[in-house]
Amino acid sequence: MFKLAIRSTRLAPRSTYIFRSLATASSTSPNIPATQKAIVFDQHGGPLQYKDIQVPKPGPNDILVNIKYTGVCNSDYHIWKGDWAIKPQLPLILGHEGAGVVVAKGENVSNFQIGDHAGIKWVNSTCQSCEFCQESHESSCPSQTNSGFSVQGTYQQYCLANADQAAHIPKDVDLAKAAPLLCAGLTVYKALRNANIRAGQTVAIIGAGGGLGSLAVQYGVAMGYRVIGIDASNKKEHVLSKGADAFVDFSSKVGVPEQVLELTEGKGPHAVINVSNSVQAYNEAITYVRPTGTVILVGLPQGGAKLESDIVMQTLRAVNIKGSVVGNRADTREALEFFRRGKVDSPVKIVGLSEAPDVFKLMEDRKIMGRYVLDTSK
Ligand SMILES: [Zn+2]
Ligand SMILES: [Zn+2]
Repeated sequence: MFKLAIRSTRLAPRSTYIFRSLATASSTSPNIPATQKAIVFDQHGGPLQYKDIQVPKPGPNDILVNIKYTGVCNSDYHIWKGDWAIKPQLPLILGHEGAGVVVAKGENVSNFQIGDHAGIKWVNSTCQSCEFCQESHESSCPSQTNSGFSVQGTYQQYCLANADQAAHIPKDVDLAKAAPLLCAGLTVYKALRNANIRAGQTVAIIGAGGGLGSLAVQYGVAMGYRVIGIDASNKKEHVLSKGADAFVDFSSKVGVPEQVLELTEGKGPHAVINVSNSVQAYNEAITYVRPTGTVILVGLPQGGAKLESDIVMQTLRAVNIKGSVVGNRADTREALEFFRRGKVDSPVKIVGLSEAPDVFKLMEDRKIMGRYVLDTSK
């Protein structure tokens, strides 16, 4: 997603960055205030300011969502710091895991009604007509806009989303718990789908004890796969409690490939998904995945990291190596449905929007544990 062009036309000039189209919305609920609270920064790594800004107005194809909860994603930290080769426009409101209530919509919007629950995810809008959009690979659309990156994100009380890309959230779904599923849940669900395996087959998940990994284990079990969780020994109980069939300790004296092969009658798992940022784990996975199997790349190491694969062995073993990033609209609907049916839990720690700087400090100090969700009313 880093190579994608930013459609700078989607971002208004600095002095008016909070205003979008001033087109009159075809439908608006009463009591939308003129101003709202948001977290805004205007230089990379600079202060995350909790302040009052204008409430934006929806363009013809937009919905305005009264965000109730928004998840804090590790990517938000890197976007704030300017760590990626491609930079967001500034000033910026971060956030791409927003869940709330539709309070206004543009004149062309027919798929949302006022009062519906909606989610705003990383892919905010796509062109709908390029080769990738035609094939439902919307997250590869070269004209996509991204929430909290090239358009203003969900660390605000009222956020705009393109109605075609916004997620429908069923009314019986807890909005705080749904928020992280719009990025973390969608990412691991899509990775499991990209593994292209069948119920009964085996998937190994590297980093199974972390936030993404815990969700990946649960989705994998719910999808009928045999799940091997790989992480440090202190995560064993947690990983098994999420339903994994077996656990592999990467800190053991016995190597991970040997342990995984032992658990799979020497054949290896049908797929390996790495949500950790370990380059060594990636390179090992290529050696122990089952012939014709697939290694899915999800976790992002530092820029410049390289995979190393023995070309002869990879060819003779017919091993697939595949990158996977977020997912499309159908994936989003399906990922939320697993949660609605109680097949996947999404534990969150809820703090006020005004406390976002404290959460970023925890990320900076590498002390963050679990998934934080910001309550925009505080
Ligand atoms: Zn994210
Ligand atoms: Zn497109």
